[in-house]
Amino acid sequence: MTDPELPRLVLPGDYLGAAEEFLPGRGTYEYGGRIYASLLGAPSIDPGDRTVRVEPRNGIPEVQEGDLVYARVDELKTAMAVCTVLGTSTSRRAVPGAPEGTVHISKAKDGYTETLAGEFAVGDVLVARVLQAHPGIKLSTAQAPLGVVAARCQLCHALLTLGAKEAVCPRCGHREQRKFAKGPLPPPSGAHGPDGR
Ligand SMILES: [Zn+2]
Repeated sequence: MTDPELPRLVLPGDYLGAAEEFLPGRGTYEYGGRIYASLLGAPSIDPGDRTVRVEPRNGIPEVQEGDLVYARVDELKTAMAVCTVLGTSTSRRAVPGAPEGTVHISKAKDGYTETLAGEFAVGDVLVARVLQAHPGIKLSTAQAPLGVVAARCQLCHALLTLGAKEAVCPRCGHREQRKFAKGPLPPPSGAHGPDGR
């Protein structure tokens, strides 16, 4: 069980609570009547005996199921777009380690997608929802507000002016199709602390 007063992620040395209120459990230490995290992880309090513990989260990127993320398309394969997750929409910080995320062809848009090359291009920046965070990050751009938010002309590399269905290159006039993001972003469905972590 997660205590709503605790942050979702703590660093070694973060204060967790007073030793008179809680018992130090795994992943914590007591010093001077105060309990601190001894590792990077997710803290929780056992409601039965008030033991506070920290579950290690070493090396796992801070991306959660339900998050909205920005991702750059690196490669288009037959069945998926391979992306780098750049950051989450709720926290302006970059995601540590720039983890890889994939959009399966069935999750690119609502309905049937014949080829991913008709929806995305390498270098596009997407806003996408995290369907699965572990072990691999799986993304979806199916909802209307999700999809391509920044794209470059495939001919001259200028930043495209995005329209509703088509983008037009302001430099060379080339028209391109994408699965564009439309409308305001929905709220992330994951639970986030007030600091956006
Ligand atoms: Zn152009």
